[in-house]
Amino acid sequence: MKYGIGRYLMMAVCGMLSVGCSAGEVSETNLEKLSSIPIIYSPKYKISVFGMEKFHPFDIGKYDKIYHALKKDGYVTDQSVIEPAEVTREHMLLIHSKDYLESLKKTKHVARYLEAPQLRVIPDRLLDAKIVSRFRKATGGTIEAARRALKAKSKMAINLGGGFHHAKPHCGEGFCIIADVPIAIRVLQKERLIQRALIIDTDIHQGNGTIVSLKNDPSTYTFSMHEKDIYPVPKEQGDEDVELAAGVTDAVYLTLLKSKLDQLLIKSKPDIVFHVAGCDALDGDPLASGKMTAEGIEKRDAMIVSVCKKYGVPYVMTLSGGYSKGAWEAQYKSIRALIKGEM
Ligand SMILES: [Zn+2]
Repeated sequence: MKYGIGRYLMMAVCGMLSVGCSAGEVSETNLEKLSSIPIIYSPKYKISVFGMEKFHPFDIGKYDKIYHALKKDGYVTDQSVIEPAEVTREHMLLIHSKDYLESLKKTKHVARYLEAPQLRVIPDRLLDAKIVSRFRKATGGTIEAARRALKAKSKMAINLGGGFHHAKPHCGEGFCIIADVPIAIRVLQKERLIQRALIIDTDIHQGNGTIVSLKNDPSTYTFSMHEKDIYPVPKEQGDEDVELAAGVTDAVYLTLLKSKLDQLLIKSKPDIVFHVAGCDALDGDPLASGKMTAEGIEKRDAMIVSVCKKYGVPYVMTLSGGYSKGAWEAQYKSIRALIKGEM
């Protein structure tokens, strides 16, 4: 494993921390530019742990920065963005065990799942407000995005968070404590809104939690393209895994992805596609060694959306990981391109 999980988790913790944005940055709204793709977001996604973020050397405000850039450029407003409800306990129990949910009430357990011992400073009584509720909110965002994608004219929706693909039914890891995508799939299935789902995971780390959460489930199909020799080690056996050598370039990545997409949709016959769209394959990511560019990330996402449209399957984007300096901007540009494509 090239990077320790503790370091990975520290990046991820800080990736969800707020850096804020002044009201002065918001430009006048041009309503014609407003996204017709439902955008789901809440300021309550943010985790703020006693200013710990100030000491972090990497980009710490990806999700916020993307939201505020979309707002500044007129693609969303505070009114147009959809604030989700927190996922309910009943819905979490569709994937997680009661014992596991009980353990999320204790800092000692959550700090262990997050492998971030510095979080032990948080008293149990503040744990829910400071951390766990933020994951419930973002998980609610993935469920809401899925509902919207099924109804939207564009057949797409974007949650500016989520993609907690390392969370498992009985434990958390990789700074993921609630398995948002598997829960969303179970909720939609329970409500008979879908039968089958395909997960396309392009975060550079394998979505081991998603795979374990949906093990032996013929109604779901997990596809992951990830770097071979980094966390998680060992890997889980998904329905289809593509292992990448270190240093993957746009050309190699996009050629491989293109060779897979049609078959994935044909084989899995999904009623919905969840894209775990981490951008840590970007050159300069502190937790992987990919060499992709922002243009490559944009092409990747466009390629996945395009194949979903080709087969008429609703598409849900979750943002997941990616914490290099250029990570937020790469994902912002990709989302902007998708919005413009629907105008
Ligand atoms: Zn990742």
